[in-house]
Amino acid sequence: MIFSETGFHFSGSRSEGSQFAPRRLYCLAMNNPRADIPIREPAPASLDDTILPFEVNALDLRGRIVRLGPAVDAILTSHDYPLPVAKLLGEAIVLTVMLGSALKFDGRFILQTQSDGPVRMLVVDFTSPDKVRACARFDAERIVAAGAAAPGRLLGHGHLAMTIDQGPDMSRYQGLVPLEGNDLEHAAHEYFSRSEQIPTRVRLAVAEEFRGGESGAPRRWRAGGILLQFLPKAGERARQADLHPGDAPPGSETHALPEDDAWVEGRSLVATVDDVELIDPALSSERLAYSLFHEHGVRVFRPAPVSARCSCSRHSVEAMLKSFSQDERDDMVENGKITVTCEFCSSTYVFEPEEISANNTPLDS
Ligand SMILES: [Zn+2]
Repeated sequence: MIFSETGFHFSGSRSEGSQFAPRRLYCLAMNNPRADIPIREPAPASLDDTILPFEVNALDLRGRIVRLGPAVDAILTSHDYPLPVAKLLGEAIVLTVMLGSALKFDGRFILQTQSDGPVRMLVVDFTSPDKVRACARFDAERIVAAGAAAPGRLLGHGHLAMTIDQGPDMSRYQGLVPLEGNDLEHAAHEYFSRSEQIPTRVRLAVAEEFRGGESGAPRRWRAGGILLQFLPKAGERARQADLHPGDAPPGSETHALPEDDAWVEGRSLVATVDDVELIDPALSSERLAYSLFHEHGVRVFRPAPVSARCSCSRHSVEAMLKSFSQDERDDMVENGKITVTCEFCSSTYVFEPEEISANNTPLDS
């Protein structure tokens, strides 16, 4: 047995060549007296396309580490966007997978930006339990002119929307965060601070890996991220310093709220994570969790898989076309056919106009 539902603590024992010091061997047992939790060493190599949930009970921290290889490569390669657009979309994919995979029900989690920068729109759609697809809209000339601009400048001003869709009979939930020239990490912090009031830190990284040799692709995309949240049992410990003084009269004392020591330690540790640690195939998510939190004892749960898959189908496209009026459909006919291309996966669906006439109803209606 390698994993159990109750999770595993990492042992502090050191394997050959491990970079981790053995001096904290005893801490796990001391910090957590439960003897029924198996202890083992962290896996050495990266398990790509996985989400690893973890918790650090001693600090009331919970989090997840996402590691994407073939999934992010498939999406970004199929679109062939300019590099800065691909990188930004890769970050949005990591963020969406981290948040969407935390849903405790079946449904879709959609992250969408709409803004006035060179990248006008990013859409990432996560369908539980494990499917992700993504696309972007951008202004090619402005991307070239922007050169190596920071991600926040590529997005510009606008908003980021996060939508939870549990199906046609359920209400949709949508959270909005303003984009004000900042990057997606910053937008995520804003969202959790204002809307959820959960102290949260997110790190996102995307890069192209270059490989030599005749076999295999010479370049491939990799991406990764870590999400950390402070969830103490006593809710008041999670209070954060006010972002705005509110409508307090001028001159009145601002209420300085010290941050909880456990959270300061947690967010400081996440701030030390380098991009390369999030994407290095030779560093497993477990080892990363261990290297960050081993002094306090870290418990990991069963990693969940994620894959790049589009949910479009001939049937769904047909139903969508039938929702238009006959006049609108007539306008879509080119060379005697209606052709629809999925913006997420570039699949093309070709219909005879008479296939979608009013007296030809969809199968499920
Ligand atoms: Zn598709």
